[in-house]
Amino acid sequence: MATNAMYDKENNIYDCVEIEDLDFEEDDQAFYYPCPCGDRFTITVQQILKGKDIAKCPSCSLKIKVIYDMDYVKEKFSDLIMSSI
Ligand SMILES: [Zn+2]
Repeated sequence: MATNAMYDKENNIYDCVEIEDLDFEEDDQAFYYPCPCGDRFTITVQQILKGKDIAKCPSCSLKIKVIYDMDYVKEKFSDLIMSSI
């Protein structure tokens, strides 16, 4: 499967965003990014650790692709990974 396209309009990918640009909320263990509809795109740390990179907005059909380096994520959330295994 070729999934290297930065933008995939057919899948309603609104934008590609670096993980550093997302807001992390520790209480939710999730990342957020403002959606143009006024809600927020959401992706959890668990989803990212499973290899998912699409954050969805719960209020509309838009999605964003989250750009991240798995090694960075694993290092940043090593405590969380330990506690979830
Ligand atoms: Zn939205």
